[in-house]
Amino acid sequence: MTRYAVSSAVTRGLAALRALRLCLLLMLAAATALPAFAAEVPVVSNLRVGKHPDKVRIVLDLDRHVDFSIFLLPDPYRVVIDVPEVTFHLPGSAASHAVGPVVGWRYGQFRPGTSRVVIDAGSPVQVKSAFVLPPSGAQQHRLVIDLAATSREAFLQDSEASIQRHVALSAPRVAPPPAAPAPLPNSDTRMTIVIDAGHGGVDPGAIGQDGVHEKNIVLAAAKALQNALEETGRYKAVLTREGDSFIRLRERIAIARRVNADLFVSLHADSIKDGSLRGLSVYTLSENASDKEAEALAVSENKADIVAGIDLSHQEPEVTNILIDLAQRRTMNYSARLAGYVVHEMDRETKLLGRPHRFAGFAVLKAPDVPSVLVELGFLSNREDNRRLNDPAFRRKVAAGLTRAIDRYFQGVQAAFR
Ligand SMILES: [Zn+2]
Repeated sequence: MTRYAVSSAVTRGLAALRALRLCLLLMLAAATALPAFAAEVPVVSNLRVGKHPDKVRIVLDLDRHVDFSIFLLPDPYRVVIDVPEVTFHLPGSAASHAVGPVVGWRYGQFRPGTSRVVIDAGSPVQVKSAFVLPPSGAQQHRLVIDLAATSREAFLQDSEASIQRHVALSAPRVAPPPAAPAPLPNSDTRMTIVIDAGHGGVDPGAIGQDGVHEKNIVLAAAKALQNALEETGRYKAVLTREGDSFIRLRERIAIARRVNADLFVSLHADSIKDGSLRGLSVYTLSENASDKEAEALAVSENKADIVAGIDLSHQEPEVTNILIDLAQRRTMNYSARLAGYVVHEMDRETKLLGRPHRFAGFAVLKAPDVPSVLVELGFLSNREDNRRLNDPAFRRKVAAGLTRAIDRYFQGVQAAFR
């Protein structure tokens, strides 16, 4: 690569980072502009999918009228339905019920003020009609969406138009970002650790045999780690999410950079077919995965944005390469060093997976200047790991082990600069 090419790649990379930060600001502004009425949001009490001769009808039963916005995303084919924040009281998960082209659906909070339903289609579909029916007889309000088969070309055209319409509709709700307050003089000498609970909201992550969602397990583990770190008085621990909300992968990195994180620790739990496999593992960033399993795991964890209905994958290669170009060797070395301490300390607290330190291209580890590790706490598909991860006492043990690893890491870093 010539020098010119490098610098223009860097410029593009910085522009992408700036765009991400602006995006985050706008989202924060949107969140703060909305009144926080936790109660009194509409309730979705059922989601039905019915096959008719010429269409598949999706019906959401609601206790009142809601406005909605629909858009389509390709690869894989998805119909995304956004409504104001609602409470979902739906019977069970429905991923396995295929009805015509509809092969599954997910739902949850997308961001404060917005809930989302994502319908997965196995083949291209068109939205024939979408409307809200008022109550009649025993029926409540119903949001009705009729889908029919179409060609890929027609789907792609509809998709583009629907995204433009959706963006135009959502824009007026976004208030301009407030002027940033002047930073206070900083006498806080604590290290800042960003703890990233994986998944959230519309993206449940892995699902255990008993139906437990990874997003809930890792949020509980993140809060336990936050407590353990802050109790030492040496760390300020910031969570990327405090509740059950969806956050894009790159926003998680943006949060770490915004608070000038000294470390970034992402918490996950895996689920695979082989129920006998168990144990904790820790991953650091590499373009070259250490093995096929590590690569497959990175691919599945990197899908979060697709699961939630936004597809940023077409931007991935460019940004990925630039971020890795920018990443100093030092950051990766520090990440690997932390991973070593995590393995050493966690060996005393829980069972480790074979070769517990692995490498792969996890999107969430790509901050160029923040040493980052991703910890897979265990397998929800394994009975013993599942039992432990559901146990608050075990999560406190994990938090204590991770805190010791972080202590040792900073002792090492400080010794190196003495
Ligand atoms: Zn995960």
